[in-house]
Amino acid sequence: MLAVPRVPTPVVDCPDEVFERAGVELRLKRDDLVHPLVPGNKWRKLGPNLELAVREGHRRLVTFGGAYSTHLRAVALAAGALGLESVGLVRGEELARAPRNWSLRAAEEAGMELVFLSRAEYREATGRAGADGAGSGGPPGRWGPCLVLPEGGSNALAVRGAREVVAELAGLGERDVVCCPVGTGGTLAGIAAGLPPGARALGVAVLRGAEGYLEGEVTRLHREAYGREFGGWRIEHGFHGGGYGRVPAALEEFAAGFERRHGVALERRYVAKTLAALYGLAAAGAFPPGTRLTAVVTGLPDPV
Ligand SMILES: *Cc1c(COP(=O)(O)O)cnc(C)c1O
Repeated sequence: MLAVPRVPTPVVDCPDEVFERAGVELRLKRDDLVHPLVPGNKWRKLGPNLELAVREGHRRLVTFGGAYSTHLRAVALAAGALGLESVGLVRGEELARAPRNWSLRAAEEAGMELVFLSRAEYREATGRAGADGAGSGGPPGRWGPCLVLPEGGSNALAVRGAREVVAELAGLGERDVVCCPVGTGGTLAGIAAGLPPGARALGVAVLRGAEGYLEGEVTRLHREAYGREFGGWRIEHGFHGGGYGRVPAALEEFAAGFERRHGVALERRYVAKTLAALYGLAAAGAFPPGTRLTAVVTGLPDPV
């Protein structure tokens, strides 16, 4: 059964030589503690969408993802806990014949029906689901009336859910930079929208070659969620480690060292890249002395 999410999550100091030398403070916002199976940011983004699903009397959630999609697993678990049906449209028809990987098995065990699509079918279905996501009657008519969530879960309601992270950080001001990984940009969009004047947000791209694209996504999500744009944020593109899901040896070594020193297990695809970026930038003098960095630990390591 699904554990209840634990919010607000704690903020803890994370003293480290690299930051001390730069005159910078590092804190961790432990959103990895929201839930034992679901990454914190997936929970935060799903929350308002699930409320809408229940309010509008939907019986079924439909969403999209790749072979190891955390978002698919999160939707499967959340839907199951609410007694809703869920359908996951999975990229890659060849996966239908292969033994299920641990991630798809977990989604299925939580009650999700998996439908495997070719790359072309997948592109078409995600395209038709559109950016508006929640509330839009549903793309593949075949699944009847349903609430459709976009790939990665980022829509206007998700941005509002992600904004809650900042609401839990008291006393932010001019010296503060709130940092998070950027996959689809929903988490960064929510954080940037919630900052008080003077505070800034820094996103770390985990995709390669996404300059311009991700900034456009954050701006689009701001317009969708709030009908306006927000300043005070930027995305760092130099720490993707070779691309989504790539964990080069140097990053692995950094993550293992961090875990040893601080006793916090690091999810590699997003969280380790974000922290490696902060260490790299701080060592290079990118933050003025007196800066207080708050890294949002958006999720926990995979269960395998
Ligand atoms: C999905 C995920 C992200 C990416 O968040 P976006 O809102 O898509 O940018 C970051 N961290 C973790 C741990 C995730 O699972």
